[in-house]
Amino acid sequence: MKLYLNVPFAEKEEAKRLGARWNPELKLWFVEIKDTVPSPLYRWLIEEADYNLLAEDYSIVMASKPCWKCHEQTIVTTFILDRYYELVHFDVDEGETFFYNWQDVHNLSFVSNITALDPSVLAKMGEANSHYRKTYSKALEGSYFANNCTHCGMLQGDFNLYQEPSSIFYDCRDSEKFEKIITIDKPFKAKGNTALTAGSPEGIMIKIVGS
Ligand SMILES: [Zn+2]
Repeated sequence: MKLYLNVPFAEKEEAKRLGARWNPELKLWFVEIKDTVPSPLYRWLIEEADYNLLAEDYSIVMASKPCWKCHEQTIVTTFILDRYYELVHFDVDEGETFFYNWQDVHNLSFVSNITALDPSVLAKMGEANSHYRKTYSKALEGSYFANNCTHCGMLQGDFNLYQEPSSIFYDCRDSEKFEKIITIDKPFKAKGNTALTAGSPEGIMIKIVGS
């Protein structure tokens, strides 16, 4: 697999000597490894990142449904990614330590439960739906980027939009439910959930050799 590394600019020649190559989309160095991380690479492992999803382009999907509160038809919008990178958590030494790695995903997926969003992506969404904004959820006791009713302003929570088979954003292949799909040829950056996040085991184990 490709192991992505946070290599400071001053150390790039050293990284290259250790076999690292440059990924211009992620703006990160990477090396091809099997199931172990060679110890000279430890210091460059990714320990934190502002976002867990990155893509070169994305789509905004618009649909309409009755508001759960006032029952008027309201616009709801979401993002669809096609090919993207997702940050995956790896446990090391039986969970004693961990690092993150970017996984290249070729899978159509909605993005839900977004807690951080690149300002340019938020601006594009705002053009499509002026009622999409960071909203406090009493149920979650926290804020996330969400839809709000265009009539009464009430939060249209992600659980109701994505989780149930009857939900409007349950299946992203169900495109006859959508009124409009806008493709945007600009980078996408967010912290949120995809179908992969929902379906993959947290903390894939990986062995580190040496010390
Ligand atoms: Zn309403």
